[in-house]
Amino acid sequence: MPPLVPRWDPTKCIQCNTCSYVCPHATIRPVAMTEEEAAAAPEAMRTTDLKLPKGTGYKFTIAVSPLDCMGCYNCVAMCPKSDVKEGGALTMVPQEAEADQAEVWDYAVNKVTEKSELAGDANIKASQFHKPLLEFSGSCAGCAETSYARLVTQLFGDRMFISNATGCSSIWGNPAATCPYTTNAEGHGPAWNNSLFEDNAEHGFGMEVRARLWYGGWLRGRA
Ligand code: SF4
Ligand code: SF4
Repeated sequence: MPPLVPRWDPTKCIQCNTCSYVCPHATIRPVAMTEEEAAAAPEAMRTTDLKLPKGTGYKFTIAVSPLDCMGCYNCVAMCPKSDVKEGGALTMVPQEAEADQAEVWDYAVNKVTEKSELAGDANIKASQFHKPLLEFSGSCAGCAETSYARLVTQLFGDRMFISNATGCSSIWGNPAATCPYTTNAEGHGPAWNNSLFEDNAEHGFGMEVRARLWYGGWLRGRA
């Protein structure tokens, strides 16, 4: 069976961003665009008007990376407008049928500026307009742990220290060649370290103390 990936239908989507919220691999993302950004997008991009009180004049797309999606079905299963039999806002299709979306993904992720301010206060929908600072991890398809970890990086990742106990999260979290933690446009992202099975509390406390000493010295040096 060929790998399957989600295809997005803008005519059926209610823009709840649940698909992105549950994706363990950060391979499906809502993107808000200005008219100019939408006009410069690859032809294969599907768009609709952004449905937000502050979103007048903006366009919306759900970008999917067909080359990184693990085909876990989480997004389709949780989409309130998906219907596996009839076809809905998300439908799983063979990966090659969505090959043109790779270019769309690259444009949406690398060329479009973040507009999380349009979504207002903290809520599920707003959280997904923030760039994930954990993406394309080597976790198993459908892993719930990486969905939670990805969400935390969207909320706090630009100022986040992680003291990781050994386990699954240290396996998908930092194999040297494929570290999934990344940075935002300002170069800020999670600082990660790993300790042994049961001493990560002490290890994390040490990181905290050291950070406070360092920042304290840095601040005093600037006074
Ligand atoms: S099928 Fe799974 S990995 Fe692919 S976009 Fe949906 S939730 Fe993400
Ligand atoms: S979960 Fe479904 S309805 Fe909600 S944003 Fe994603 S595709 Fe649209």
